[in-house]
Amino acid sequence: MTSPFYLSVAIAVPIPKLFDYHPQPDSDMSHYQAGLRVTVPFGSRELTGVIVNIHQNPQISPAKLKPINALLDTKPLLPLDVYQLGHWLSEYYHQPLGECLSLLWPVLLRKGEQALGSKQTQYSLCPTQPDPGVLKRAPRQVDLLNYLLLNDAQWQKDLVKAGFTPTIMQGLVEKGFLDKQERNSFQPIKGERSQTPLTLNTEQQQALTCIESRSGFKSFLIDGITGSGKTEIYLQAIAPHLEHGKQVLILVPEIGLTPQTVQRFAQRFDADVLLLHSKLNDRERLNAWLMAGEHSLKSHRGQIVIGTRSAIFTPLPNLAMIIIDEEHDQSFKQQDGVRYHGRDVAVVRAKTLNIPIILGSATPSLECLHNGLSGKYQYLRLTQRAGNATSPELQILNIKNQAVHHGLADSLLKPIQDTLDKHQQVLVFVNRRGYAPTLYCPDCAWIAECRQCDAKMTLHQKPAHLHCHHCDSKLNIPRQCPECLSHKIQAMGAGTERLESHLQYKFQSTQVIRIDRDSTQNKNAMETLLKPVHDGEPCIIVGTQMLAKGHHFPKVTLVIMINVDSGFFSADYRAMEKTAQLILQVAGRAGREKDKGVAVIQTEFSDHPMLHLLKEESFHALSLALLDERKNQHLPPYGFQVLLRADCHQPKEAEMFLHRVRQLLNQHQHALNMPNLNMIGPLPAPMELRAGRFRSQLWVAAHNRKVLHHFIGVVLKDIYEVKGFHKVRWGLDVDPTDNM
Ligand code: ADP
Ligand code: ZN
Ligand code: ZN
Repeated sequence: MTSPFYLSVAIAVPIPKLFDYHPQPDSDMSHYQAGLRVTVPFGSRELTGVIVNIHQNPQISPAKLKPINALLDTKPLLPLDVYQLGHWLSEYYHQPLGECLSLLWPVLLRKGEQALGSKQTQYSLCPTQPDPGVLKRAPRQVDLLNYLLLNDAQWQKDLVKAGFTPTIMQGLVEKGFLDKQERNSFQPIKGERSQTPLTLNTEQQQALTCIESRSGFKSFLIDGITGSGKTEIYLQAIAPHLEHGKQVLILVPEIGLTPQTVQRFAQRFDADVLLLHSKLNDRERLNAWLMAGEHSLKSHRGQIVIGTRSAIFTPLPNLAMIIIDEEHDQSFKQQDGVRYHGRDVAVVRAKTLNIPIILGSATPSLECLHNGLSGKYQYLRLTQRAGNATSPELQILNIKNQAVHHGLADSLLKPIQDTLDKHQQVLVFVNRRGYAPTLYCPDCAWIAECRQCDAKMTLHQKPAHLHCHHCDSKLNIPRQCPECLSHKIQAMGAGTERLESHLQYKFQSTQVIRIDRDSTQNKNAMETLLKPVHDGEPCIIVGTQMLAKGHHFPKVTLVIMINVDSGFFSADYRAMEKTAQLILQVAGRAGREKDKGVAVIQTEFSDHPMLHLLKEESFHALSLALLDERKNQHLPPYGFQVLLRADCHQPKEAEMFLHRVRQLLNQHQHALNMPNLNMIGPLPAPMELRAGRFRSQLWVAAHNRKVLHHFIGVVLKDIYEVKGFHKVRWGLDVDPTDNM
């Protein structure tokens, strides 16, 4: 008779503790171990959780505990390093362990499904074929045989689509012509070596030599202008690992995962390429996840996993290197729930596994640059474009006192025409989709505003409506001003649709292609729209940030940026950094091959000092100036921040909650004698009302990360205990990257 034991289970609920359960009746302790999933009764629901601990001292009387409903796994599905990463997330981001562990699973496993890949029936020709004479009276079987001779192995579902019935297939199996197998229907992209490595230039070679000279954990920052050959270095750096049949993980921004990117990896190696991106459905994601986790060195076939932020949690038993391309990109930061930063998590994972990690960017984040300059990361710089291309020239066009129509300065029409005449392409960048950002009445100054948000509604023409980009609410376009009944209401400012129609009117024989979230909603729409661009026809592309990453447009030699500098005047202290990154990213689309490119910034603020630093010096010079500012103000990366956000449908509630929290923080600060903490707030969020919720913020900052985290760790329990605000939602954002 063994003594009774209990299971501590982590469940994805916003309560910072583990929950004790009895095991299933008559089950043996040996069935249980940390990391196994279980289903448990929780209130009136059944939830999936993870066993974290098996023990004999329950927190409450055993009589009050319930047994688990079911044990889902016989062995842990997560490798130890990923499971530990979940614990690290919980500690570092101060979030309940259950919520952090739940992040690690594909949705279907979170919902309690079995960890099985989809199997489907596949038919292929038997290696030795019987005498075809026996098929004389079976013409359809002959058809199928001929079809498979031309097409190799085929899934049953595809054969059915091609007009063959399962009876025909079965007939051929019974006669010994076909082989029938149940196989994992998820197939990786089969890479095939068709391209050889390029001969590196001196800077590239130095960087690669440096990476190759180290083994074990080391972070490398490649700070290289667009087109300087960073990707070529990644390719050569991962080559030896793939030759040893290992795995490499490549993280890319949400919109950087283009077919072009994938192709470059697939054409270089005899390795499997797995894509983990947001367009996979839950089943595909589970299959890809399982395939990565089942990778074996015995296969002698390397595996490249390319994915967006959450791919950092993929089980990778033979992981040898991590690469983060466009390291500075905002999409690596999760902006709800557990607000983790994929880049920072990746560095932690590399450290745990004692493997190298390469962070690359044309416009490094100030955090990484600081680590590079201080020697924490190995800093590698590429200052020249690789191959024959030269960097685009940055020009500033002051439009004060200039004629501007539909958002575009008239003086730019001639350079556009000249570019088209040279059979080259033009890219017009405007980071606003829709026709115009504002609908307004000149008679009474009325503006179409969202009722749910402190924001203007965007005017769309295709189809015609008013749309709030913050809460997605839609309205019909009024014919008259709702305030003064004037008929003169008009569009103000310009978005992609407006520039598209203006340019199409001005250049009637030229194709104008609009790329934004609206025009690329359907699967493959982006590729279809971009076909003429890739075919090299003279054309004008009008688009948003979607164009700024991962795309390679060899024929674009003129880039025009409209309204990019509005970010210079934002309340966010990171706005300058982000805006400069965007400008360079977009400018980098120009002149990527032999023709020199020009990038024009159309602006009303042409004498902004930062703009000049960017033009006359470089992004690097600007970054150093910004780092100086941050240092003086003790802002990140020289200081550390935690942002408490709260929101509520009712006005003032969130703010009152944070007032209460602020009192608690003050008491603790006093008791702990921590004068070096700085607190600001509660303050209304920059957009106080959003999607019908009133939002408030409280900042806590310190010069020392340990001090800040210790403090948060101490006060957190009390914040959870604050009573009387059950309608308020709140959350912690550790190392926030924006204040929205
Ligand atoms: P990045 O990733 O820094 O933007 P890429 O690796 O995509 O740069 O390189 C830009 C272009 O230059 C690509 O067309 C690439 O094939 C080419 N390239 C890169 N390295 C070399 C090299 N050493 N010699 C010739 N061409 C190169
Ligand atoms: Zn009016
Ligand atoms: Zn809204």
